[in-house]
Formats: sequence, structure tokens, C-alpha cells
Amino acid sequence: MSKQTPAFGGLSIDFSGDTAPAAPFAPAPLPEMAIDFGAAPVATAPGGPSFVSAHEGRTESKLIIVGSGPAGLTAAIYAARANLEPIVLAGSTPGGQLMLTSDVENYPGFPDGIQGPDLMGLFRAQAERFGTQVVDVDIDRVDLSQRPFRLWARGIEYKAQALIVATGASAMWLGLDSETRLRGRGVSACATCDGFFFRDKEIAVVGGGDTAFEEASYLTRFASKVHMLHRRDEFRASRIMVERARMNPKIEIHTNTGVEEVLGDEKVTGLRLKDTETGKEREMTADGLFIAIGHRPNTEAFRDWLEVDVKGYLVVRDKTNSDIEGVFIAGDVHDHRYRQAVTAAGDGCMAAIDAERWLESQGITEANTLTAW
Ligand SMILES: Cc1cc2nc3c(=O)[nH]c(=O)nc-3n(C[C@H](O)[C@H](O)[C@H](O)COP(=O)(O)OP(=O)(O)OC[C@H]3O[C@@H](n4cnc5c(N)ncnc54)[C@H](O)[C@@H]3O)c2cc1C
Repeated sequence: MSKQTPAFGGLSIDFSGDTAPAAPFAPAPLPEMAIDFGAAPVATAPGGPSFVSAHEGRTESKLIIVGSGPAGLTAAIYAARANLEPIVLAGSTPGGQLMLTSDVENYPGFPDGIQGPDLMGLFRAQAERFGTQVVDVDIDRVDLSQRPFRLWARGIEYKAQALIVATGASAMWLGLDSETRLRGRGVSACATCDGFFFRDKEIAVVGGGDTAFEEASYLTRFASKVHMLHRRDEFRASRIMVERARMNPKIEIHTNTGVEEVLGDEKVTGLRLKDTETGKEREMTADGLFIAIGHRPNTEAFRDWLEVDVKGYLVVRDKTNSDIEGVFIAGDVHDHRYRQAVTAAGDGCMAAIDAERWLESQGITEANTLTAW
């Protein structure tokens, strides 16, 4: 029997190769943590093995899930196995944020790590195996005034009795071509995820808010030196965070400093910087660049219907509920605290179970879960 799993965006994963997880009774030694940012290419192409275009397939379901990151696809696995025959409207980044990275070493179950797109390919194959229909479209408008809820994508109307919003958040980037080219090869937007790869390396963090300072401080656990780069001479971060960073011998703060270019072919080797006051340019050696200028939650289509907090993230009540009965929320679209694949997946699981029980409570599906709503 072939161990080849279906492809996601053109990728296929062969578990018969060297990367198979070690047997449970023979734990693998911690591998040498050499960084190979030149490894597998980062895939962004949409469409999986049973890709359904917006013009075919079902447009009505008991449950529609918007978003196909770890939260949306985990919700789909649970909902599909509960016979809800969910439709996933996957958005323009099918697979979500992990499609933008290479090595993922903190997702449980993969002791040797896994490439982000490969991991999301597995999520999707598992959701589809149980009957999920995935359509790679962005929702542009919704009407949540009554049930069935109505959603529109590319002019096509979808209807559902229950809805899970798992549209995630997008990390903000500087917008440089070189930054895009070297993403996952030394350029990152997640210190918790990628800091470990930079043991004894010299790196830089861009940003001037609390998050940038938190990330810089966290990164000093690994890096030999952390350069903080900020375009202005004043910081948005709280004074205490700035003071702490100034006291840290591993952190060097560079104000009035913008990044013009990330240098390197296969991986980051340095930065071309510009003094924002004098315009003078210089080069800095660096093995990595962390962009910490914020995240934008993907809430546009829902803003008229669902409450957002001061940072623009959706507000949840009692775990996964929104203010509208039958509309559930999961993952980074509400969570700006943890922002991890495993927490988003956990959230997706909870949202699917909540949706399932709610559909039962409404008599829309047969009541067969063990716990009453
Ligand atoms: C560079 C980088 C590296 C990372 N590395 C790691 C790591 O190593 N380990 C880890 O645990 N976490 C990592 N993370 C964080 C992790 O990727 C996120 O926490 C996780 O993906 C959040 O999952 P989510 O499902 O909530 O949202 P997302 O992954 O953001 O997915 C959102 C989904 O919603 C869809 N969508 C958005 N708007 C619409 C719309 N209008 N209509 C339809 N669909 C829509 C998108 O297409 C996408 O499919 C990393 C993040 C980044 C940016």
C-alpha cells in the first residue's frame, strides 16, 4: 500500500522516506539544529486533490466554515466526522499562515518537524477524507440577520444553519521583494515559532511597539545578539519595556533606522539599512530578521455583524460563541495572545463541537452527543 498522502497545492508527502517519526519506544535524539532555510520551497498555490471551484459543488450545508488554516480545517475534521457535511470556504490563502513558513517544529506529532505547507496538506486531506467540501474562495459579504445565514463569494451565494468564522490574522510585512523571497529562510514574523532556529546567531527585529520588545527579549534566549530596528526615534512601547531592553546586554537599539533590503541568496546574510534622518545607507550582518510590526485580523466581511475589540479582533463569549446564536469563532481571528497553530486547531475543535451541539439543540440535526447543550 502506498504511503503517499494526497497533494496540497502541488506538494506531496512521502512517509516512507527518512523523515518518518521514530517509534515511540525508541525516541529520536534531538537532531542537530542546523538551519536549512534553503529546504523545501514555500507553496502558496491553491487547490487540493478534491479541489472544488466556486461554480460547482454544494452551496448549502448545515455548517459552513470560513477559513482553512489550522482552526478552520480542524473544525472541518470534527464536523465532517459528526456527519455535518461541512463546506469550507478556504479563502485566498488556502492552508492559512503556515503556508508562509518552512520548518514547523512545535506542532505535536512531528518529532523531526514538518514543512508548514506539508502540515496543512495533511490537515486538508484529513478533512476531505470525511466528506468536507473545500472551495478556495474569499467571502466578501455576509448576511447574519436570520437563518439560514447567507454568505457571498465571487457572486455565488452560500447558505448555512451554523457558521464558524476562522479567518485568522495576517502578519504585517515591510513589503520588500527581498523580504518575501527570504520568508522562511531567515525572515519570520513569529519569534515563538522560529526563535529556536537562531541559537548563537545575530539577528534583527523590526518594530517599535510592545510586541517588538517582547519578541526581542524572548529572542535573546537563543541569539548571541539582537538588533532592534525602528524607523522613528520614539517608541510606541511602554517605557518599562524599552528600559528593560536598554538594560539587556544582548539587545542593541537602532532608532531612525529603516530596512531597505534583506540580503542573501538562499538564506538571510545581512540587511541594507537606511538612516531615516540623513538618508545614509549601511549594511549590517544578520542571520535572521523578525518582523514585529503587528497583525491584521481578517474580519472585513464580518465587521457589520460581529463585535470586534480595540485591536480589531473578534470578541468571543464563553469559549467560541459570538453574539449571534449559531455563529462560532475560532483561531487567530480572535486570539492575539497565543497565535499558535496548535491553539488555533484546539479552538477549531471546540467550535465544531459547540456548533454540533447547538444544531442538535435547534432540532436541525439529530441529538446524539453525550453532553447536552
Ligand atoms: C511566518 C509564520 C510562521 C509561523 N510559524 C509557526 C510555527 O512554527 N508554529 C506554530 O504553531 N505557529 C506558527 N505560526 C502561527 C500560526 O501560523 C497561526 O497561529 C495559525 O495559522 C492560526 O490559524 P488560524 O486557522 O486561526 O488562521 P490562519 O492560519 O491565519 O488561516 C486563516 C484562513 O482564513 C482564510 N480567510 C481569510 N479571510 C477570508 C475570507 N474573507 N473568506 C474566506 N476565507 C478567508 C485564509 O485564506 C486562511 O485560510 C506562524 C505564523 C507565521 C506568520
